Amino acid sequence: MNTSIGKMIYEGKAKKVFQYSDDAEKVFLEFKDSLTAFNAQKKGSFDNKGPINRDIAVLIFEYLEKKGIQSHFLESIGERGMLVQQVTIIPFEVVVRNWLAGSTAKKLGIAEGKILKKPLVEFYLKNDDLADPFVSDDQMLMMELIKSEEIVQLKELALKINGHLVALFERMNLTLVDFKIEFGKNKKNEIILADEITPDCCRLWDKTTQEKYDKDRFRRDLGSVKESYIEVLNRMKKVEGGLS
Ligand code: C5P
Repeated sequence: MNTSIGKMIYEGKAKKVFQYSDDAEKVFLEFKDSLTAFNAQKKGSFDNKGPINRDIAVLIFEYLEKKGIQSHFLESIGERGMLVQQVTIIPFEVVVRNWLAGSTAKKLGIAEGKILKKPLVEFYLKNDDLADPFVSDDQMLMMELIKSEEIVQLKELALKINGHLVALFERMNLTLVDFKIEFGKNKKNEIILADEITPDCCRLWDKTTQEKYDKDRFRRDLGSVKESYIEVLNRMKKVEGGLS
């Protein structure tokens, strides 16, 4: 056990957050083996999920950093830990869609699998009691939780991240259908990428077989959940020339 890890501050659905070394600028994240869907109404887990997702998240943060995208990631610790910058999470989840699937396809009555002419950026209020509702830009401003220039900044950052991730997954023969990211403000008041990017929060379809390699396998009882997450990590490690 790393003696610098202090008391638990918060336990989320997929991660625990701990204080680190009395250093208020850093926190320690522990990736759990649990898996939840539909606002935690469906619960599951698989052995070694935490370490697999931690490794995927680290490879993605390192890749994005090389592309000039700042994130909260500092270093890996142990097999399921990650040291990150302390941030104040912006209370809106940002979803980017390249293909229509999931909630927006359902809401609009459009069959899953429609490629979009340009990526769609959507915001959802982070509120479990309300099941994270979709919010318009005007609703975000009305709540006075964000400034209009910050909304513009989040959209720009989300689209930049999308471009880099689409290119990365392409090299793994995977289509990045959509994903959810979160941002936070660090001590310098900079908006940086936070939380994680893993198969828990992305839709990834094999380019050849259209097979799903993400949490939809758990949500929709498709089986081989663990094998799919391992396959994503393995393909990522095998990207020719490394992740650059
Ligand atoms: O459910 P929906 O189609 O809106 O999800 C869009 C994308 O965002 C999916 O990749 C999903 O895994 C992710 N997401 C998430 N956490 C949420 C909502 C969506 O990771 N609370």
